[in-house]
Formats: sequence, structure tokens, C-alpha cells
Amino acid sequence: MPCEVGYMLKINYSLESGVQKSVADISAPAELNIQVRNLVLKARKGQKISRGEIIAEHPSKFGGACHAAASGKAVKVNYHHLTIKCDGGESAVEPVDVQSMGPGKELLRTLQGLGIDVAPLSSRTETLVINGLNSEPGISVSEQLLRDEKEILEAGLRLAETLITPMHTALAVAYGSSFSLHGAQTAYVKPKYPRSLDALTVKAVTGKEYPEDTKILSIMDLYDLGLVAKYGLPVTSTIMTISGKNYRVALGTPIRHLLSELDIKVQSGDKVVLGGPFRGEAVYSLDEGVKKGDYGLFVISADEFPSIEDATCINCGECVLSCPARILPNMISRYAEYERFEMAEKYNLNSCFECGLCSFNCTVRRPILQYIRFAKDQLRTGGV
Ligand code: SF4
Ligand code: SF4
Repeated sequence: MPCEVGYMLKINYSLESGVQKSVADISAPAELNIQVRNLVLKARKGQKISRGEIIAEHPSKFGGACHAAASGKAVKVNYHHLTIKCDGGESAVEPVDVQSMGPGKELLRTLQGLGIDVAPLSSRTETLVINGLNSEPGISVSEQLLRDEKEILEAGLRLAETLITPMHTALAVAYGSSFSLHGAQTAYVKPKYPRSLDALTVKAVTGKEYPEDTKILSIMDLYDLGLVAKYGLPVTSTIMTISGKNYRVALGTPIRHLLSELDIKVQSGDKVVLGGPFRGEAVYSLDEGVKKGDYGLFVISADEFPSIEDATCINCGECVLSCPARILPNMISRYAEYERFEMAEKYNLNSCFECGLCSFNCTVRRPILQYIRFAKDQLRTGGV
């Protein structure tokens, strides 16, 4: 199968997709491989698990819990992963009537327990921006959901508005599109990457950089919220663009299963990337499972694009010129490379919104974005 998204890497920053078909389901895999690193594991090896049951909780005050997307038995548990051998069993999890709950802590805790990250919902705001742009070139999830799942999205919006009571709600969409959501004023944004990134979408809609009185939710956030509002069941799947079409994929589905279902061949030296062409990360194993928030999968052929190298920076400045956050990716990546994370922070590491343009444009193909993510992760976890 040709790598459509991979081809776009060379030439295309457009966020328009013109997706035509409906979302298709990927069949259930024999095993789920769920990433549990940095989560508090609630399941143990040998345990029978029911579909929808909590298998891990988030250690933070606001992170959503992680649930089994299928029933089965936990056959492998380690620091990074929990593997469930699926048996096709029914769910024993009862739905929760979220819509009848009033705003407040109980609703927040219930949503968190159903897999929703509630940080953006946990306090009031003046303006709520719904980011309806496709996340990256070649990814069409937002457009697909706005076209086909308006009712679910509006249920999610009502729930979000119950909690954060915004004075104004805006839906950011591409110029020329006709998408709308009841209760949201449509704002048009030029559909060119990296304008789909939250910081830039907010700026395009409000005219301000990082305004304190504004929150942003993605269409996927709203969709998960809408599903929880409508069915009262936990989030156990994500929607992913693969070779130009969108698929509903159970969380934990091994990438090997996805490739096999869609008859995508991977040759020696090819890179399989989870996410989009700019922000995605190459997977280290095809047994790796799909995670919440993964919105794309593509294969870059070995001869299609120069691979990232751990090369020395030659001070050409290309990364600085391409950085929309107006920071110094060359300096930050060097400090991260030598584990001087506090210096990376001084060079405004936290202003980076991980667009990936610095890595994409680096003359010697340094893994700048990977260094940045490494530094952020080390600072967040204290190097654990
Ligand atoms: S990923 Fe690179 S280009 Fe993008 S904001 Fe961060 S430092 Fe700047
Ligand atoms: S583009 Fe690459 S080589 Fe050039 S300054 Fe940035 S990190 Fe260094």
C-alpha cells in the first residue's frame, strides 16, 4: 500500500483533507497491549478483567483513568505495559448517568473515573475555544467527526459548558468549511500547519497569546466527552487516520494488528510512526499498543525521507527560523542532549508547543523534538 501521509511529508502543510468515507471499525485483536508507564496500576498478573474495568489510574489530580477495551486475562504486567489476552467476554460495567449530574466535584471525579482528563474542565473560564482544525497534514479526524458526529460533539459541548460556564464559545474551523456546533460561534482559521496547534489556534481566534481567561478543547476531547455523556461508559477507543481513511481503534490494539488488518506492508528500514507527520513518534516495536489521543499511523519508507540522526549541530539557524514559538531549539536540544535540563528550561523549554518544525527543517536531521520531549519528561517525572 502506498504511504500517502508519508508522501505528504515532503511537500504539504495543508490541513484540509476532504475526507469522504465514514469511520470504519478495526476488528478486535487477540491481545491488548496497554501502556501504563507513569500510571498507578490497578490490575495484577493473572487477574480476569472485564471490558470497561479500570486497569490504571492517573497519579495527577486531573488525569483520566485507563480502562480495558476488551474482557480477558492480564497475562503480562511490567513497569511499561499490561497485556490482556482477550476472550470476547461481555462487559460487567454499568453505565453512569452523567447528564443528570449537576456541576461540581462529583461530576468531575465521575468523568475522571470514566477516562476523561478533567484539567481543562476543572475551573471556570471566560472563553472556550473548540479546536476543529485537523491536527496535522494528512490527518482528518476533526473534519470527520464534525461532519458525522455533530450530535455527540454537541452533547460533549453541553457537558463542558456545564462545568466551565464560558461567556463565549468559539469553534475554530478551516476557511471555507461549513461546520458548526450549536451554541458556538464559528471562527475561521487558515488551514495551514502549525495553525492547528492549540496556542496558535487560540491566538487566531482571540488575537491574544496565552490569554488567561481562555480554555481550549480539541474535537477529540469533545467527542470523548460526548460519548461519555451519551452512553455513560468509559473511553476505550480512539479515532485514527491511516492511509487517508479514519478508523475506530480499541485502546491497546497492537500496531502489528492494525497493519495486518489494513494490509500495510513494512519493509526492513521503514519507520512506523504513531501520530502525524510532524509530531508523531516512531514506534520501537510493532507490539506497542495504541494509546488515548493517538490520531494517526503511517509508514515512512526507508528511501523516502532522510532519517533522523544523532548528529552534531552546525549552527545553521534553520530551526530557529522555523520556530513559531520564537525560542531557540538549537540551544534547548543541546542542553537536553547533555542532560542540562535546568538550562533547557532557562531557554524557554516550556514555551515549546511541540510542532516538530525544528526537527523537520534541521539541516543535519537532529532529533530536536525528541530531545525537547525527553527534557520535559525528565523535568516532569524527576528523572524516574
Ligand atoms: S517543536 Fe521546535 S519549532 Fe516547534 S515550538 Fe518547539 S522548539 Fe519551536
Ligand atoms: S537546524 Fe539543526 S543544525 Fe541547524 S542550528 Fe538548528 S539544530 Fe543546529
